[in-house]
Amino acid sequence: MAQFDVFIIGGGINGCGIARDAAGRGYSVGLAEMNDLASGTSSWSTKLIHGGLRYLEHYEFRLVREALAEREVLWRIAPHIVRPLRFVLPYHKGLRPAWLLRLGLFLYDHIGGRRQLPATSGVDLAGPLGAPLKTGFTKGFEYSDARVDDARLVVLNARDAEARGAEIMVGTEVTEARREGALWRIRLRDRRAGGTERVVTARFLVNMAGPWVDRVIQRALGQSEARHVRLVQGSHIVTRKLFHHDRAYIFQNADQRIVFAIPYERDFTLIGTTDRDYDGDPAKVAITDEESDYLCRAASDYFERPVTRADIVWTYSGVRPLFDDGASKAQEATRDYVLKVEGDAARGEAGLLNGFGGKITTYRKLAEDALERIGERIGAKGAPWTGSRPLPGGDFATDGVGAIEAELSRLAPALDQATVSRMVSAYGRDALGIAGNGLGRDLGHGLFEAELGWLVEREWARTAEDVLWRRSKLGLRFSPAEVEALERAIEGLVAIRKTAAA
Ligand code: FAD
Repeated sequence: MAQFDVFIIGGGINGCGIARDAAGRGYSVGLAEMNDLASGTSSWSTKLIHGGLRYLEHYEFRLVREALAEREVLWRIAPHIVRPLRFVLPYHKGLRPAWLLRLGLFLYDHIGGRRQLPATSGVDLAGPLGAPLKTGFTKGFEYSDARVDDARLVVLNARDAEARGAEIMVGTEVTEARREGALWRIRLRDRRAGGTERVVTARFLVNMAGPWVDRVIQRALGQSEARHVRLVQGSHIVTRKLFHHDRAYIFQNADQRIVFAIPYERDFTLIGTTDRDYDGDPAKVAITDEESDYLCRAASDYFERPVTRADIVWTYSGVRPLFDDGASKAQEATRDYVLKVEGDAARGEAGLLNGFGGKITTYRKLAEDALERIGERIGAKGAPWTGSRPLPGGDFATDGVGAIEAELSRLAPALDQATVSRMVSAYGRDALGIAGNGLGRDLGHGLFEAELGWLVEREWARTAEDVLWRRSKLGLRFSPAEVEALERAIEGLVAIRKTAAA
């Protein structure tokens, strides 16, 4: 029976972040994810590494400061999947006054230790940045945050954890965990291998099941009364490109909320998000007509050309697993994370850490915080390290993307420029290894057999959905027939892998 120091439930950003940190400090680590990595909330975000300008209004200064500081840390350790992004905030008569916006942005620029990201400036919307907007918007501000490929951030943390000795079990559900004195006895069901069961033990258990955190406490841990999270749905719409520059917009709405319009996957615009309480199955969450209309309306208040439902090419929804702090409105519930440790140390009971809430942006700090609590219970190992070591493929300078793209083009001249930049944005320096031994067939839209092989072999991909919507966003381009052919190609690769392993 496998024995771990630390066992983690949940392969979202928080679970994988903890796995990486713990494995790097020398603990033996196991992680179980019941579906695909990042198949929960961590692939349905707005994909920003940001301080959260709006949270200043809720006086969440600790959260904003920590999140702002993380922007440059994450950019440095993952310059392929994290990129700076400038946001244009138009001044809207009748909403927040210009002095308040200026004050908020001054704080934003100064409380988080910004070094490399450019500072806030005023913008004249009579120029190109105002061209897509209605003529009434004449002035505004421009400030810095960053964007991230959320699902890839999860996979890269899992890969690094594995490289440092962690066992990452994808498609594996934790069905039961019971304390036996100083150890946890954990029952796992492998959903990808026809429900095969396995039991492992661990000295410390971490429940990072996101929106399912209460369900794990109730069902796997047997505490039927548990109710800690407030599920808040957020939805996004994607349209064809609505503007032709590289900045994002942040629009204020009359309901005090804000909506982003972000350049997305070269040819598209991502618009979101909403905030509504949700009480269904987190796996089944989907955008409502009301949310689509809300987002179209919010964008149309600003863009010269109205955005309608007919413009929508894709939508996605996620559920924020927020700690239930009793706030009356969904948009006011804290976005900060809360970690709660259980188990009576004096009586020698094995420790349990339940994690609630949090942001993609703060996952690394959450992991450091979790490691401190784990260390208190099973003995501390190592010091915080994850902020200074690159994630896989990210071992290059923040201004080094162009040089890697040039090297990839030289190595694989068959790749067009769009594919070169997509691959470098996804894999960084690893793109050179993927393309270095020949590309194989193009399975559509620049997805070559070599890349697919890498995803199956090194990144746990098992279905077309894993490849098209999480390891990449090529799902926006693939036709149903191409998806079908890709599914067959993956099945072939998985079969070869099984035969080789047998
Ligand atoms: P999840 O990603 O949900 O991971 C939990 C995992 O646990 C799931 O994959 C699930 O399958 C697994 N699991 C559950 N039960 C079991 C079990 N019994 N056994 C095994 N596995 C199990 N943050 C930002 O920083 N920037 C943003 O721009 C941003 N935008 C957002 C927009 C929206 C609409 C939403 C919903 C959130 C946004 N967030 C953003 C917040 C961020 O996405 C979440 O805080 C974060 O992804 C939560 O990660 P997690 O690992 O805790 O949960």
